Amino acid sequence: MKNVIVLFILCSLVWSCIDEELSSGQSETAQIQEELQQFVSAFEGEAAVRGLRIDVAELGVTVELSDIPQDDVAGVCFYHSNQPGRIEIDAPFYNRMTTLEREFVVFHELGHCVLGRGHSEAQYNNGVCRSIMASGTGTCFQRYNQQTRRVYIDELFSNQ
Ligand SMILES: [Zn+2]
Repeated sequence: MKNVIVLFILCSLVWSCIDEELSSGQSETAQIQEELQQFVSAFEGEAAVRGLRIDVAELGVTVELSDIPQDDVAGVCFYHSNQPGRIEIDAPFYNRMTTLEREFVVFHELGHCVLGRGHSEAQYNNGVCRSIMASGTGTCFQRYNQQTRRVYIDELFSNQ
């Protein structure tokens, strides 16, 4: 039994995510795909205005577009307890998403792979999710838009 934790977190467009253990870790050269750099930079910028210094490239986390074979999966975080994580965003989903939806998916995966966050199913009385880290398999629904974005990002970094 290896003394490491390896998680494989799948996230669908409706934000349902499945955590699975992998038998072995991934080891690739860290890189951030140019197309996704804008969202990674935005994440680092949002961290910075909240007093957190996060450099995703320096952490060695890979962020790339990929054609994820599983149906209805928009993103995945390969999280490893003693290696940098790797994020894959499904290219076909990505191409259909709005800029805000793309940011949501990348931020959600960075929440797993960089902030080490799991899922949070907390919700307001009206059923809206309190967190960008909701799994989507719970009962809450997301309302990530220009008006709510700041509140969600505050929550994302609140325990760091
Ligand atoms: Zn997730």
